[in-house]
Amino acid sequence: MKIDKKEKAVVVIGTGPGGATVAYELTKRGIPVVSLEAGPRIMKEDYKNDEWPAFSQMAWLDKRTMTGNARVVKDFNGLPTWLVKAVGGTATHWAGATPRFLDYEWKTKSTYGNVKGASLLDWPVDGKSMKPYYVKAEDAIGSTHRGGRPPLPANNNYKVFAEGAKRNGYKFYATGPYGTNAAPYDGRPGSVQDGFNFQGDKNGSKWNPNVREIPRALKTGKLDLRPNSQAVQITHDRNGKVDGVLYIDTKTKALHRQEAKVVCVAGNSIETPRLFLMSASSMFPNGLANSSDQVGRNYMRHLTGSVYARFDKPVNFYRGETMAGFLADEVKNNPKRGFVGGYYLETLALGPSFMGAFLEPGGWGKKFADMMDGYRNLAGMWIVGEDMPQANNRITLGSAKDAFGLPAPNVHFDDHPNDTAMRNHAYNVGEKIYKSVGAKQTWRTTPYPHTHNLGTMRMSAKKKDGVTNKWGRCHDIKNLFVSDGSVMTTGAACNPTLTIVALAIRQGEYLADQLKKGKI
Ligand SMILES: Cc1cc2nc3c(=O)[nH]c(=O)nc-3n(C[C@H](O)[C@H](O)[C@H](O)COP(=O)(O)OP(=O)(O)OC[C@H]3O[C@@H](n4cnc5c(N)ncnc54)[C@H](O)[C@@H]3O)c2cc1C
Repeated sequence: MKIDKKEKAVVVIGTGPGGATVAYELTKRGIPVVSLEAGPRIMKEDYKNDEWPAFSQMAWLDKRTMTGNARVVKDFNGLPTWLVKAVGGTATHWAGATPRFLDYEWKTKSTYGNVKGASLLDWPVDGKSMKPYYVKAEDAIGSTHRGGRPPLPANNNYKVFAEGAKRNGYKFYATGPYGTNAAPYDGRPGSVQDGFNFQGDKNGSKWNPNVREIPRALKTGKLDLRPNSQAVQITHDRNGKVDGVLYIDTKTKALHRQEAKVVCVAGNSIETPRLFLMSASSMFPNGLANSSDQVGRNYMRHLTGSVYARFDKPVNFYRGETMAGFLADEVKNNPKRGFVGGYYLETLALGPSFMGAFLEPGGWGKKFADMMDGYRNLAGMWIVGEDMPQANNRITLGSAKDAFGLPAPNVHFDDHPNDTAMRNHAYNVGEKIYKSVGAKQTWRTTPYPHTHNLGTMRMSAKKKDGVTNKWGRCHDIKNLFVSDGSVMTTGAACNPTLTIVALAIRQGEYLADQLKKGKI
């Protein structure tokens, strides 16, 4: 559907799990939507299943800077985050892990109490009200182990991991829940266990919005999808309601304007606050919807790190679904371990070229070479845990400029002592697991550029504490919504995408209802 630029439309910025889900929820209820996506539409036959060329094909490589004491600042200074610029968003590059928040993880301020230096806050939503939306999100994604869907088979990396977990007395480990079909589901085939599908899944068994929500929204005839269209400013009328979006055609560099009656922003936790800050005006001098000064603050990226181990026999850990292996025993909050919150351990395999770059950035020497020489004998796991929100971990407009001459975002990140204590605990557990099954060598790998980008536009019950209310609607501007992972008040231990989709389904229902009742 072609929507006239002068028509006041619902404009959704970004087509990742957040944006595409909202667009589909609206269009399937008959509401026309313009979807602006900064990147191109890459189809499965176009994916390059080769790590670095695939990375160049889809990653968001526009100028960004980084400050703070986190190790990523030193190791990957020009690349603070690992995000995608393409229709489907970063989920074209995701692994597929889909666990849920635990009930108390919606209320961490009440559960953990005051943690020095942390800006913890309870979400204005709770586990009970989110339950039906989790079921809808799992059905949309096709999460294994849920809704009667079968688990994925164990690959060798998982077998090593699970045996080590068992020998250490752990009880809660499995190959899912995971967003890749074990058997045909929802028009998509079962996995062929082809591995490496971080690089885009040519088989089509892995969920991402470019294989489900976008084609279905297009089929309703109500979606005007505009790839290569990067929003650069949201404008407002004299009453302070948003009324349009300025965007650049990234191929021709031409500037366009789409009139809007509602704007939903889902550009990820870096680009969403950046756009709000770039949209400052005389009425909103600190950026749109920023009377609380919370836009861009409380940036989270999950506590991460990896443990790899070398064995004397081949594991061939790169075969099968990359991250289909979870250990959940360390998730529950147990401050006796020396930190609040908890973490998952999840299987992980990188290809040889990523492994060379990420195992020990800048590393060399015999021990490093032993690991790389033993590539086929490696097993690996990723640590993902709750990190503490901090007011000064934030996105600001830096002095560097992007290709359009616009201010590039600066990402500031300092590790919180709780994060460091949790990471050290997880490294010890990971090494213990591998040593118990005969590892010859283990390796503690530091965090990769951030793949889970959360917070920065957080939901809050009170206007002064955040940017959006419990529907993701801005406290300050009633026809402006945030629909991506940046609304996360706190991040919990689990991988975020299932929750982003669940929140976006819920927001889409609410917004459609408000529009139909003429309340917006
Ligand atoms: C290697 C890797 C593995 C991952 N594995 C998992 C996993 O196993 N489980 C999990 O839960 N999560 C995983 N993730 C994270 C997951 O991909 C993200 O949580 C999710 O995609 C975030 O959704 P989003 O809608 O908030 O943002 P995104 O998916 O990042 O989508 C944002 C979209 O907005 C577009 N955009 C940005 N700014 C503009 C603008 N100004 N104008 C127009 N368009 C714009 C971007 O191009 C992008 O397409 C992984 C990520 C990576 C990189």
